[in-house]
Amino acid sequence: MSNLSYVDAENGAWQTFLAQIDRVAPYLSGDLQEYIDTLKRPKRALIVDLPIVMDDGSIQHFEGYRVQHNLSRGPGKGGIRYHPNVELSEVMALSAWMTIKTAVLNLPFGGAKGGVRVDPRKLSTRELERLTRRYTSEIAHIIGPQKDIPAPDVGTNANVMGWIMDTYSSAQGHTVTGVVTGKPVHLGGSLGRVKATGRGVYVTGYEAAKKINLKVDGAKVSVQGFGNVGSEAANLFYASNAKIVCIQDHTGTILNEAGIDVPSLNAYVEKNQGVLGFDGAAQIDNEHFWDVETDILIPAALESQITVDRARRLTAKMILEGANGPTYPAADDILIERGITIVPDVICNAGGVTVSYFEWVQDFASYFWSEEEINERLDRLMVQAVEDVWSCATQNKCTLRTAAYILACERILKARKERGIFPG
Ligand code: NAD
Repeated sequence: MSNLSYVDAENGAWQTFLAQIDRVAPYLSGDLQEYIDTLKRPKRALIVDLPIVMDDGSIQHFEGYRVQHNLSRGPGKGGIRYHPNVELSEVMALSAWMTIKTAVLNLPFGGAKGGVRVDPRKLSTRELERLTRRYTSEIAHIIGPQKDIPAPDVGTNANVMGWIMDTYSSAQGHTVTGVVTGKPVHLGGSLGRVKATGRGVYVTGYEAAKKINLKVDGAKVSVQGFGNVGSEAANLFYASNAKIVCIQDHTGTILNEAGIDVPSLNAYVEKNQGVLGFDGAAQIDNEHFWDVETDILIPAALESQITVDRARRLTAKMILEGANGPTYPAADDILIERGITIVPDVICNAGGVTVSYFEWVQDFASYFWSEEEINERLDRLMVQAVEDVWSCATQNKCTLRTAAYILACERILKARKERGIFPG
């Protein structure tokens, strides 16, 4: 049950986060437990109305949000989602997971997230630009390179970040590249950012596979979501000789037990905006995705996908959470009981925020690194995160998710405690 009057008690994602916090609490020392309620409520949540003049001259209103869950360790960091189902409690949960993620990677940020309730596919490019600029103007007073730095998420991309940077900069009277990350490279973006989240999924997955003696070469992999995260993870597993057997996106589910030719699928999706109809695989029923025989399952679409029922049916030995919050807590328990290794979202998909951190640093210094340097630093941080979380889990005899939360919550709550409550 939610502890906040403005949250729908039935909503999945925020309840999932609260349950995760309750699970970590017993592992924290008494002086830190005293501060745990800090994590159960966002520091700040802004709801904005976005009236837009559409191309046909009519006016349409959209609802936007920016939530700053915790700023104890530094400025807020987190993406902006454009999706028809965006609502406050979902953005709250996503912002809270950012707090945990930046802390577990030990990046000097807090957690934030934004969103607009819109189907971006239904807007023209000009309408999307107007919506983005209006949204930026409405949240401009709480974002900034030292306050809160947005980035892309589902339904947004480098172009959207470019418009945000330009709108924010116009109000400041000078170019402020550090206000968003995930920008086009020629506008202060970082090399390697677009592929960073998918790369992190692969790197953490590869490390975890070694720990459980699962050979990636020849392993069967299924991926839900073939967007930014899912497609790059699939590319890298494909390049390591894994067999990508099943892929699902918003258009449907495709299966080829001999392995999908991922480079050809990339070209097909680029042209057709979805995997359905690709002639190198058969179409199957969407729900059947969860029954397909596979060694590694990568949910890389939306949250709340692995339900209790699906957790009982799926055959994977390892789950790599590319998406944020894809697994319900009750499903988590079943997966653990069944001996399935879960690399939790807060480390598995942290490659994006890590390279966002590099982008922010490069923008401040106005000195840009090569892609090779970026990937090398990213891989090093991700491998270290898996090591840290793995040894914390072994030490505490707990799951990787709880271990990640232990490391993160200790860092966040120590910062909260050391800063003190002001005014007291
Ligand atoms: P994206 O918009 O590029 O791709 C989303 C994919 O999910 C698309 O292939 C879409 O077809 C598919 N999808 C949407 N609804 C679906 C449904 N109902 N069933 C099956 N597939 C569906 O988004 P993305 O950036 O790849 O993000 C995917 C997930 O990864 C999200 O949970 C996001 O929060 C998380 N994430 C993204 C980043 C990043 O850097 N982009 C970083 C961390 C976490």
